[in-house]
Formats: sequence, structure tokens, C-alpha cells
Amino acid sequence: MRCAERTGRIQALLRRKKIDGLLVSQPENRRYLSGYSALDHGIGESSGCLLIPARGEPRLLTDFRFKLQAEAEADSLSVVLYPKGLPALLKEMLPDLKIRTLGFESEYTLYSFAEKLKVLADKIGVRLVPTTGLVEMLRLIKDENEIERIRAAVALNEQVFAEVYRSLAPGRTEREIALLIESTMRRMGAQSPSFETIVAAGSNSALPHAVPGPVIIEQHRPLMIDMGLILDGYCSDMTRTFVLGAPDDRYLEIHRLVRRAQLAALAAIREGVTAAAVDKIARDIIAEAGHGPAFGHSLGHGVGLAVHEEPRLSARNGKKLRAGMVVTVEPGIYIPGWGGVRLENMVVVREDGCELLNNNTTGLDL
Ligand code: ZN
Ligand code: ZN
Repeated sequence: MRCAERTGRIQALLRRKKIDGLLVSQPENRRYLSGYSALDHGIGESSGCLLIPARGEPRLLTDFRFKLQAEAEADSLSVVLYPKGLPALLKEMLPDLKIRTLGFESEYTLYSFAEKLKVLADKIGVRLVPTTGLVEMLRLIKDENEIERIRAAVALNEQVFAEVYRSLAPGRTEREIALLIESTMRRMGAQSPSFETIVAAGSNSALPHAVPGPVIIEQHRPLMIDMGLILDGYCSDMTRTFVLGAPDDRYLEIHRLVRRAQLAALAAIREGVTAAAVDKIARDIIAEAGHGPAFGHSLGHGVGLAVHEEPRLSARNGKKLRAGMVVTVEPGIYIPGWGGVRLENMVVVREDGCELLNNNTTGLDL
């Protein structure tokens, strides 16, 4: 789907909701609707926003630093700079465009900016409408072109993993391996990691989001690597847990249980099944074996332009999965003092099942 078609859908939605215009500031939403790929470098920094009127041409509002990039990437939009800041530009632009009701993304707008917006809106008689998930709703379902790009991001991530895997050895530290993963990603053409790489050795693998440090990788102990990269704007995310040398019985038992839960969930994914039902299938298998409390996070999440997006595969999400969604399936068991096992693959939801995007099987079936 082209940016113009996506924008057209948002405009139809705005007209239905009787909103005259929408300010899109969330970076992935911005990119999805315009092709403009700049990132925001911190919660208080913005590289611009889209102003989408319910009728008429959308505009990309940004500042001098991003002018050339904006014009090149969002080539079908007019780019307007705000040398005096966004509020000052909106003060002129909203009345010109006859926007009397302005939607903004409430989950991606700082309170301090919303206050400024409110002062300005009151001055020019504009009503502000906080919105949630308007663009995210479209991003939920990937078209085949997006799926191809995600597939490529997964494939490159696996190439990086395979290369790094060959150089793993007892005695190296978590931090060294994380650095090697991230430099290999860049060398092989990734834009960047899609999140902070996790390399967790031994008992550190009991921390689902462990930060790689000076801990030394030992034989016969769990080693968890969770890594992902961004390629062409789209993300990948994969976890492998394994041991160097022969695993002991306890490791084998935990690992096989996690794998069984993962395979059962994968077998259940198809259009029409609820996210909560898929989560429950994996969770029940782990709970029946007595490890319920050790699986404290949800089963998975959507992946696309963002590495964590909707739909969440969680007990709290009663919504049905639909064809074209891309999700991770990543059950885990975490035992303080011992370690943990998480196995994560990505799939595309299809009408009659799901399509596994991963080819890598390192250490999966023991
Ligand atoms: Zn992950
Ligand atoms: Zn994940």
C-alpha cells in the first residue's frame, strides 16, 4: 500500500470522527504515512510531524535540519519549515486550512507540548481532540511488500546470529558478544539494532531484559541471546537460548518445556483465534509443568516499523488475530539464581495458520 492510500484511509477516518485535521508526531506513524524516516532523538526532541487535514493535501512540518531529507523522502508532500517553532506555524496554518478540530496523538505527545498546544488552540478557537491508535490500527495488518521487508530483516538477523555463533566460546564476556553482534549487524548492512541486544550468561538469563556486562560465558550454563535489527525501516527480533558444551538434565527439562509451549502456540495461530487464546495455550503447558509463575511476561508482540507494536499476544488482549499481522512467539521460564530459557520466533498470521519467518534452528530442538 502506498503512502497516499494509507493517508486516504486516515482522512476517511477523520471525516467519520468529525475531526478536521490530525497532527501525527509518532515517528513510525509519520514514516508509515509519508516515507519520511527521520527518528526522534529523545522524548523532548522531534524531527517533525505530519498535518493531515480531513480533506486536502497533507503537509510535513519540520525544521531546517531535516529539510533536505524530508523533501527527498516525502516527495509527494509539501514540506513546511517552522523557524519559530511548531506552535507558531500552527497558529497561522490551522485557520488557513479551516481546521477547527485538531486531533493529536495522546500517547506520543508530551504534557508540556500539549499545554502549549492548548494555549494556542484557545487563542484561535480550535478544539483539541486526543486520539489513540488511529495510524497504529492501519499498521496492524502488513501488506505483502511490508512482509517482504520484515522477511529480509529476519534473514539478515539470522545471518548475523550464525556468524557470531561460530565465534562463541567460554571465557568471552556478555558485553564482548553484544558488541560483536551489533558491529556485525552494521557491517552486514543493517541500519541499527532494533533494541538493545541482550546477551545473558548463566544466572543472568533469569532476567528477561538483562543488560550485557562483564559476566563471563561458561560451559554447561544457559546462554540467552535476544537480538534484532532494522533493515529498510522494518524490524526483526529473535531469541535463542542454548548451552556451550553438554546441557544438564535441568536445562534439558526447562528448554524442552519452553519449546513445547512455543510449538503449541505456533500450531494454534491463524486468523480468527484471539491473542489471549494463543497466550493461554503456551501458558497452560508451562503452568501444568509447575512453572507458571516463572513465565511472567506475555507470549509475544507485533513487529513492523517498531520492534514492539500491536497486537500483543497477552492474556489481556481478547481481540482476534487477522491475516497479515506479524507477531513474535516467545515463551520463557526464568528461575532466579539458576537462569532462564526464552525461545523467540516471528510469524505472519495467515487465514489457515501461520507462516514462520525464521529459518534458524540453532539449539531449538534438544
Ligand atoms: Zn526479542
Ligand atoms: Zn520480542
